[in-house]
Amino acid sequence: MLHSDNPAKCCSYCGGRDHDYEDCLKRKADAEKQAPTPREPQPVDGRSPLN
Ligand SMILES: [Zn+2]
Repeated sequence: MLHSDNPAKCCSYCGGRDHDYEDCLKRKADAEKQAPTPREPQPVDGRSPLN
C-alpha cells in the first residue's frame, strides 16, 4: 500500500479518483451555476468610469 507514486486522491464531491475536492471541475461548474459571478462591474453611483 506504500508503493504508490501518486498521492491518493478521492474527490468527496463527485467521487472521482483522479482529482481532489478542490480540483473538482464539477464542483466549480455547479458553484458557478448557483452563484454566477458578474462579468462586468456595475457602476456604484451610476456614472460610467470608462468615460
Ligand atoms: Zn470531483
